[in-house]
Amino acid sequence: MASLLRLPGLIDPHVHLREPGATHKEDFDSGTAAALAGGFTTVLAMPNTNPPIADGPTLDLALRLARAKARCDVGVFLGATAANAAEAARLAGQACGLKLYCDLTYGPLRLDDLAALQAHAAAWPAGRPLAAHAEGRSLAAVLLLATLYRRPVHICHVSRADEIHLIRAAKERGVPVTCEVTPHHLFLTQDDIPRLGAGRAEVRPPLATAADREALWRNLEVIDCFATDHAPHTAAEKDGPKPPPGFPGLETALGLFLTAVAEGRLSVEAIVERMHAGPGRVFGLADQNETCIEVDPEARWEVRAMDLNSRCGWTPFEGKQLRGRVQRVTLRGRLAFADGEVLAPPGSGRVLAAETHNQVLEEV
Ligand SMILES: [Zn+2]
Repeated sequence: MASLLRLPGLIDPHVHLREPGATHKEDFDSGTAAALAGGFTTVLAMPNTNPPIADGPTLDLALRLARAKARCDVGVFLGATAANAAEAARLAGQACGLKLYCDLTYGPLRLDDLAALQAHAAAWPAGRPLAAHAEGRSLAAVLLLATLYRRPVHICHVSRADEIHLIRAAKERGVPVTCEVTPHHLFLTQDDIPRLGAGRAEVRPPLATAADREALWRNLEVIDCFATDHAPHTAAEKDGPKPPPGFPGLETALGLFLTAVAEGRLSVEAIVERMHAGPGRVFGLADQNETCIEVDPEARWEVRAMDLNSRCGWTPFEGKQLRGRVQRVTLRGRLAFADGEVLAPPGSGRVLAAETHNQVLEEV
């Protein structure tokens, strides 16, 4: 075995852990087991659950479930609705951020009208993260709001050439915008749809063209974070008559990026910047003490859904040969994952709410 590479615990700022409401797909237990196996020690969970995390009682429920079941650290997003701008702002200290859904997605959280976007841009505390699913023209609208309200926004899963070019232009003009890109938009395109099958290839934003993928790679310096958008649905659902959009990603992301390192397309420093430092900065996360992951950069392995911890039972990268694998994860001085086994028990992860709440209280 080659000498192990020691990296900081990875942060995934965009995962769907499906709790409450769809624990047959994933829950805080299985999802954070998948996170640790993939080298992540912190994940930020999206609010398009059932019910959506868009009010105090549902946020309380999600935080309670996370506290009881999470094996790594978890933050929970609040979802913006047309009617909850004031309530969301009140709850800001308990959430890792507010998520605005401006475009078609999975679940009922969708903001169609400008008034709701304006209300949230004005009410949500400027020091707390605001993340937006905003494709195409919605992206231009959100960038204008960030400019007019002078508040940072984080753009989720950027997938197209025109979008990354617009974000580059906005950054060059001092607009306070950050962004993330998923591994599937960096490694898959529309050309993979026939091989994957139409149902399994369903994802939002959809897989793009080879030219879009190349534009993302060419604009790597514009990308603040790699985020998996881990969005598990069961194989039966993906193969059914109404396939829901989403791919699992937590357990394949680092291997894909380390394979790109082995191919000379990426550096380890660029990975650490986008999978640790960048997300930590964008979401204002405190460093985890005595936490690291150890990676064998030479390890060769084949992706097989049956080996993964996610409950969904499939992966769009089935059969792919990867180079570079997590051997051990240490979280706050305790071995949380070693040699393929998740060791951290449910409930050993921390929920980020209290820390962020303190941060907000100190700012006041
Ligand atoms: Zn998502």
